[in-house]
Amino acid sequence: METLTEFGIGLLLAVPEWVVIEYSLHRWLMHVRRPGWLRAWHTAHAIGHHGKWRRQFSRADADYAGERDPSYGVLKSAPVWLAVGLLASWPLALAFAAVGYLHGVGWRAVHREMHAPTGAWWTRTWWYRLICAHHEQHHRNPRTNYSVLFAPLGDWVFGTRKP
Ligand SMILES: [Zn+2]
Ligand SMILES: [Zn+2]
Repeated sequence: METLTEFGIGLLLAVPEWVVIEYSLHRWLMHVRRPGWLRAWHTAHAIGHHGKWRRQFSRADADYAGERDPSYGVLKSAPVWLAVGLLASWPLALAFAAVGYLHGVGWRAVHREMHAPTGAWWTRTWWYRLICAHHEQHHRNPRTNYSVLFAPLGDWVFGTRKP
């Protein structure tokens, strides 16, 4: 297969991959206390981020917590894209890694906007309103609505969506 075709297919396949990764990390790492170094996820998110916005949703707090460099997205999905590279093809793996980075950029932008709004033009789209309402519900009840950038897809799949 041509390199470019493989890369394109990789981009498409990486979207459902990230629906699952985004959901899983949030639900089973950030909201469950794990042993060892993994505990930092829970401390930063469930205690830090949710402690700050407990059951309510401030839209006017510029002191935003929970920001990560987008390259974490490449790191977080490394087991997947490395396996894809070794077992299938490297252009495919590159696309998976690229979507990991893009997810990091997108997640950071929307989550920051949700908690410290700047009024960017895209916040007036139906899509942003949908994911923002979805995340707002997650802060009211952290056992629901774990998807953020790909909301509500992950919660549909795993049955935790609450409108
Ligand atoms: Zn939040
Ligand atoms: Zn959460």
